[in-house]
Amino acid sequence: MNIPIARTNLLDSEINSVLEPLESGWLVQGPKVKEFEDKWSAFTGAQNSIAVTSCTSGLHLSLSASGFGPGDEAIVPAFTWISTANVIEHLGGRVVFCDIDLETFNVDIGQIESKITERTKAILPVHLFGLSSDMDPISDLANQYNLFVVEDAACGFGAKYKGRHVGTFGNTGCFSFHPRKAITTGEGGMVTTNNDALAEKIRRLRDHGAAMTDLQRHLGARPYLLADHPDAGYNQRMTDLQAALGSAQMDRANQIVIERQALAERYDDAFADLDWLQTPFGGDDYEHGYQSYPCIFMPKDISLESVKKINAGRNQWMDDLQKNGISTRPATHAVHMLRFYKDKYNLMPEDFPNAYAADQCSISLPLFHGMKEEEQDFVIEKVMEFKN
Ligand SMILES: *Cc1c(COP(=O)(O)O)cnc(C)c1O
Repeated sequence: MNIPIARTNLLDSEINSVLEPLESGWLVQGPKVKEFEDKWSAFTGAQNSIAVTSCTSGLHLSLSASGFGPGDEAIVPAFTWISTANVIEHLGGRVVFCDIDLETFNVDIGQIESKITERTKAILPVHLFGLSSDMDPISDLANQYNLFVVEDAACGFGAKYKGRHVGTFGNTGCFSFHPRKAITTGEGGMVTTNNDALAEKIRRLRDHGAAMTDLQRHLGARPYLLADHPDAGYNQRMTDLQAALGSAQMDRANQIVIERQALAERYDDAFADLDWLQTPFGGDDYEHGYQSYPCIFMPKDISLESVKKINAGRNQWMDDLQKNGISTRPATHAVHMLRFYKDKYNLMPEDFPNAYAADQCSISLPLFHGMKEEEQDFVIEKVMEFKN
């Protein structure tokens, strides 16, 4: 058997939806983008959704719209995809890492306040792998210190906190439609915000700073006149081909979440008695979207001294699984250990010990909607066969 870490799952009708804009001739920022945005707002409960080229461009536009700039500091968990930090660098800011909680993989709430200085302007909580960060204390700190909150909800499709979809807590939330995420448009992203003025600003910045979208202009009284440009914006517009694909998948959004949760529950049940494997966190306040199924190998033995040894064992196990046709991955990377950040900020792995341990000892098992029962049974069988 050959079981990838993730497999794109598109219905024929979804694939064919891409033809519609090709046939209509409206290829970018047209009716399909609007339709996808409207469905996204309905699904998440966000007041505004703005389709962009990637989650990363959404993070960048959000911070840019907040006025974040040179010398400003932003707090980012040390265990996340590198781009959560990169956008701060792109705007001339300083990245301030915060360690994570090893149980949830999300930012350690208790350490955030000690990272705040008078230059701190923003915080970017990440809902890693489909599990929401603990947003109440983050919102409290943001109110207290006047911080702009950008939720990195790249993996947040279907993720809820106290019954509310992620992306609706911060000033903005940013989602990804990269093929490794739950629904995909190839590349693509969505920014959500409940602030109408901020939404307008992000729409403008996405489209070269234009005061009016092409769709508004074409539907308006004088479509032949060009818009004014109050900002020096960017080009981070989603195409209608991508939006058609995304919009079509939204018609089974709830089904996709339910299927992924059911797959995770089967793993949870199968691995419940393994003390050498920590399975994803579950808690009453959290509904997990399961962008992936991140585990920790030998969780009880983790310490700064043991990380290297556990890492060697994990890699050996990943190798064994790969030889059986089962693809796995480290859950993601510790950004403070990547060369740019390590060198620029002179950081050591043990500066953020939990992020370091998560980097070295995590393993994501295959989980994707469309995964067949016999595929999952095979993964379970091979995990259960493993003996330390
Ligand atoms: C995937 C991912 C991103 C980047 O998303 P893109 O759409 O590829 O830009 C950012 N942050 C996290 C946590 C991610 O998982």
